[in-house]
Amino acid sequence: MKKELIFDTIILGSGPAGFSAAIYAARGNLKTAIIDINMFGGQPSNYLEIENYPGFSLIGGFELMEKFEEHADRFGVEKFPMTEIEKVNLNGEIKTIETNDTIFKANSVIIATGASAQKLNIKGEDEFKGRGVSYCAICDGAFYKDKTVAVIGGGNSALEEAAYLTKFAKKVYVIHRRDEFRADKIVQERTRNNEKIEFILNTVPVEIQGNNSVENIILENTQNNEQSVLKVDGVFPYIGFKPNTDMFAGQLQQNTQGFIETDSNMQTSLEGVYAAGDVRNTPLRQVITAAADGAVAACSAAKYIERIKEQEKVQV
Ligand code: NAP
Repeated sequence: MKKELIFDTIILGSGPAGFSAAIYAARGNLKTAIIDINMFGGQPSNYLEIENYPGFSLIGGFELMEKFEEHADRFGVEKFPMTEIEKVNLNGEIKTIETNDTIFKANSVIIATGASAQKLNIKGEDEFKGRGVSYCAICDGAFYKDKTVAVIGGGNSALEEAAYLTKFAKKVYVIHRRDEFRADKIVQERTRNNEKIEFILNTVPVEIQGNNSVENIILENTQNNEQSVLKVDGVFPYIGFKPNTDMFAGQLQQNTQGFIETDSNMQTSLEGVYAAGDVRNTPLRQVITAAADGAVAACSAAKYIERIKEQEKVQV
């Protein structure tokens, strides 16, 4: 028989939105649990440096998330990292999250499950994953000492990670489908000034080839459809993220790209269920906005719980 654990609020996801929600909820006297299917820290844990989180002009992503976690610990948040989730039911007054041996129950759930790296969906990508295709420069960059790699994308992630890879690789190509970049101007300038980086613009990858590991990437010019072969040892796609919402399938209102719809209180289409950070439909996906969302979501959850507890008293 599965054991039951009961909380006021359960937070799913432990990035900036999740930990911020946990800090606000626990400090607001809610019995709070935070669950993640991965290690704690979320996406920013993989960022080499963050230089726009107020109060820290430059801090490592991992270090910042450790501080978030320590802060949550101070308020007695109960933590469940690396927890495999089997089933989530967000309907009704008691929400349930089921693992292989536990049923977590709560009146409110805050979804802060973030987003995962978008795949290129081209031939060879899956085949060479871990053998030359990587979605994490910080994790795998050191394997490419004196080698040649290609980074795909034109956002902050692509350009920052390209610069990081130059610490190891002798050459880094940045392959972008347009000739304008989505990345912040300051990041663009820094990348342009890096002699090891070469841009290949108006170009998309169409196939990754190799034998035991990646050897070539087939490129296609978006303007004349001409194809070419580029010799590389590694490919790092950084083309954005998709929301991690599979476990809630069909239960919540989502936009066409799958991001969860909320109002300004982070309330989703279900009572007692809130969404915060990258997983929701939001105009800006940054550590600071995720943390702010988490705070709002926790305060909304606290008000909701107070309201239902008042109603229960009246009924008794
Ligand atoms: P992003 O800003 O969405 O950029 C994705 C890039 O990939 C875009 O240049 C896009 O091209 C390109 N792309 C999308 N689909 C593609 C496809 N199928 N084939 C080829 N190229 C494709 O994603 P991101 O760079 O991961 O950043 C996500 C968020 O995190 C942003 O808000 C960003 O500012 C933030 N971030 C912040 C930091 C920091 O502050 N240190 C670091 C990293 C990320 P188009 O431009 O043509 O659409």
